[in-house]
Amino acid sequence: MIRLADIEKSFDGQKVLKRVSLAVREGSVTALIGPSGSGKSTLLRCVNLLEIPEAGELVIGEAAVRFTGRALDREAVRRIRRQTGMMFQNFQLFPHRTALGNVMESLVVVLKWPEDKARARALELLEKVGLAHKVDAWPAQLSGGQQQRVAIARALASSPSVLLCDEPTSALDPELSLEVVEVLAQLAREGTTMLIATHDLRLAARVAQDAMLLDAGEVVESGPAAQLFACPRHERTARFIATLG
Ligand code: ATP
Ligand code: MG
Repeated sequence: MIRLADIEKSFDGQKVLKRVSLAVREGSVTALIGPSGSGKSTLLRCVNLLEIPEAGELVIGEAAVRFTGRALDREAVRRIRRQTGMMFQNFQLFPHRTALGNVMESLVVVLKWPEDKARARALELLEKVGLAHKVDAWPAQLSGGQQQRVAIARALASSPSVLLCDEPTSALDPELSLEVVEVLAQLAREGTTMLIATHDLRLAARVAQDAMLLDAGEVVESGPAAQLFACPRHERTARFIATLG
């Protein structure tokens, strides 16, 4: 389970997250929606401590950090980071590593796994995302959907407690994005805990049990995804959902 409580984050004196609280139940998926600039990416980046909030609390499984503006305990930061996997809109694969090399990288470099064990794990994950036939391909030789599936395998390599997805389908045309939606839906069925920032209502409706709308750094509404999409309680949510079409 991951829990964020009263998270505050500013850039250049401008508050972009205002007392944001969120809980993602173990084995469930939460969709984070909201207009451009509402703070979705920043919130995801706070979960893996790529950004450090000024206030609030973050709990992932057994690891907890409280943000006070003072330096964080390095061991706590390491424990949190180890429990998160992240994927991005533009894939961000290492261009000079094959699909297999991309998935093995963190296992070998960060976790110091022996090569053969890392290779076996990477092969298993590439097979899971439907890319057993592309393990030796370079990123430039893969379609966007295939690159994103490599990114999913890479994010899952170290068995994180939560998979953070920042607009995983928005750089893909509808057909390729469907491949990625299918893989994420499969992971969701298998009980992968995920927090997904997305403008893609099809993705959100397909994989998320819960949803949260952020607007200007504030939580407008959160609850069961089906309800939030079909009959939102707040006018602001209804207006935003209408823009997604
Ligand atoms: P989008 O849907 O366009 O991806 P978003 O909801 O992910 O938007 P964020 O990227 O989290 O929004 O940005 C929230 C606010 O924080 C924006 O006003 C943005 O300009 C600002 N911001 C984000 N990162 C930084 C940064 N590193 N430095 C300064 N301002 C930043
Ligand atoms: Mg974003």
